[in-house]
Amino acid sequence: MLKLNVIGDPIEHSKSPVVHGMVMDALGISCDYEKILVRKGELKEYIEKALSENVSGFNLTMPHKVDIIPFLEKIDKDAELFGAVNTVKIKDGKLYGYNTDARGFILSLEQNGFDIRNKSIVILGAGGVVSTLALKLAGLGAARMTILNRTQSKAEDICQRIKRLQNDGVVERGVKAVSGGTENISAYMPECDLLINATPLGMSGMDMDYTDLLFLNALSTDALVADLIYNPPKTKFLSCAEKRGNKIMNGLGMLIGQAILADEIYLDKKLDISELFTKLTSNDCVI
Ligand code: NAP
Repeated sequence: MLKLNVIGDPIEHSKSPVVHGMVMDALGISCDYEKILVRKGELKEYIEKALSENVSGFNLTMPHKVDIIPFLEKIDKDAELFGAVNTVKIKDGKLYGYNTDARGFILSLEQNGFDIRNKSIVILGAGGVVSTLALKLAGLGAARMTILNRTQSKAEDICQRIKRLQNDGVVERGVKAVSGGTENISAYMPECDLLINATPLGMSGMDMDYTDLLFLNALSTDALVADLIYNPPKTKFLSCAEKRGNKIMNGLGMLIGQAILADEIYLDKKLDISELFTKLTSNDCVI
């Protein structure tokens, strides 16, 4: 039986066993996917245990995504770009690092028929996810990337990083990176083709939500509106956009997408990603 883990601290909240279980079930592969509490500084001990127990690979969450890098033989392009790893494959006693976080979101966009090239993207929020997502989207031919955040300096930091990567020739120069605060979101809406909520506002269990969504009125109804939240399946943000006639996309596709991509790495074989994605996202399941 294939043995996989997800490691982190805290780890109890992790949905990874459920999501990877769904992918492996759909593939008819029997898999033991276990959550393991690994505290900061305990990676070496965990790796020794994983090697001795024939674990085939593991996903990583806080606080290990950066600390794992010195233990790895090689990392993929996205892990290098973000300076962080979320998936490790163990092969012949050696560890190889990957990052599927942002590609999960891109996969979800593609499956929803959205082509990033030459598009204007507005992201609300500038936390951990945006620091990877914005770099990836910038490198895929978007024309404009606007990051708006309550703490504007964090949005500025990500835009500066995109500009440095452009100067170093890592990210193509086509994208214009713009940062701003959240006082006047409406001003950025008319040119927007893809609007993404990357804040936890509206997330189940959070008692905070957008108090004012009037900025959606300034958005073209042709724009795609995405929320990284998957529980509830339809936040107030998405519901409001849908009522206006916009196409909407929640965070379930990103969650499932990054798991499918990680499982493809673990299994070391090409999967029919599109078929799996459609099968696993066809019902609005609450994870
Ligand atoms: P994070 O690092 O904690 O960043 C949260 C961001 O939201 C920050 O920019 C923060 O602004 C902003 N924010 C928080 N509370 C706010 C409020 N009351 N008003 C306005 N802005 C607020 O979170 P993250 O890891 O980037 O995750 C962002 C979202 O993506 C979460 O909803 C998470 O559940 C979701 N997510 C989804 C997936 C998936 O697979 N679908 C994967 C990962 C994360 P400040 O900088 O001003 O604090």
